[in-house]
Amino acid sequence: MAKIGIIGAGSVGATIAYAALIRGVARHISLFDIARTKVDAEVLDLNHGLLFTQPVTVDGSDDVEVLRGSDVVVMTAGAKQKPGQTRMDLAEANVQICARILPGVVRVAPDAMLLMVTNPVDVVTEVALKLTGLPWERVIGSGTVLDSSRFRFLVAKHCGVAVQNVHAYIAGEHGDSEIPLWASATIGSIPLSQWSVEGHGRLTAADKDAIVHNVKDAAYQVIQGKGATNYAVGLAVCNILQAILFDEQRVLPVSGLLRGFRGMEDVCMSLPRIVSRKGIEAPLPIPMTVDEEGGLRESAERIKAVVRGLGY
Ligand code: NAD
Repeated sequence: MAKIGIIGAGSVGATIAYAALIRGVARHISLFDIARTKVDAEVLDLNHGLLFTQPVTVDGSDDVEVLRGSDVVVMTAGAKQKPGQTRMDLAEANVQICARILPGVVRVAPDAMLLMVTNPVDVVTEVALKLTGLPWERVIGSGTVLDSSRFRFLVAKHCGVAVQNVHAYIAGEHGDSEIPLWASATIGSIPLSQWSVEGHGRLTAADKDAIVHNVKDAAYQVIQGKGATNYAVGLAVCNILQAILFDEQRVLPVSGLLRGFRGMEDVCMSLPRIVSRKGIEAPLPIPMTVDEEGGLRESAERIKAVVRGLGY
């Protein structure tokens, strides 16, 4: 059975471990953090709940050896946004942390898939790819899986339908330049542009603007109120872990290397892709408007500029 290694036992890392534990995604979960007291306490707390879950072993350490043999290593260590800070503001500090940790991770878990969550996640994913030399299929960023979940939740709420019946993606940077792909959005197979069902609302241009504003502002709102986002990201990352470890071939808007998608390349950002035990495939040929494609190009350039500015 599979082993998940999690780097960082902070709000995000511990919540991913909790979600993975209660969903029975792996047989072993190992946490690694430089803060020994913190990682020990999180491991103890998780172990105290094992009576109520599937059989899982949970351990942790401040020694990277604990990640040995992991099938997937999830990277959550690093600085988080303070109120008002953008994700890109974290780039320099978090890229340095990756440079310090990742060589040791590849040494103890050479066959693992890397799932980057630390922000700015697209920048960090590209740096991880370059630092480790792993194949592009095996270096994944959680990308806009969380943003797309926020997007679908807001559309579903507006139209009074279940969130599972809304199919819609946020693509591009997991951050301020992300792009809603309205043209391909559907509810129960009906294109969103044609959605007009009595008692279930319509989406005017103003409604759409408000939803996009809300999606982009979501992390800022949560951080303002409680200092960190953790539950939704924990579930989103657990969903990606499940797609990988259960070989689900699930379509997810994860971040990964673009190798010529509509002329965009040498940059990591999110587009819907099939995710399985082999990792990610090339982005799906999702239909989009000229404006959506233009927005994605700008998003790609913005990520590229930050990565190149850091010397990668
Ligand atoms: P946190 O401060 O609660 O936890 C970070 C942990 O990293 C701490 O426990 C710290 O000890 C550990 N750490 C720092 N340097 C380390 C090192 N060199 N080696 C090992 N451990 C180290 O922060 P958080 O709220 O858990 O957020 C973690 C990251 O996740 C942030 O960058 C945040 O922006 C990001 N995040 C991403 C998403 C997403 O969708 N991609 C969503 C939410 C948060």
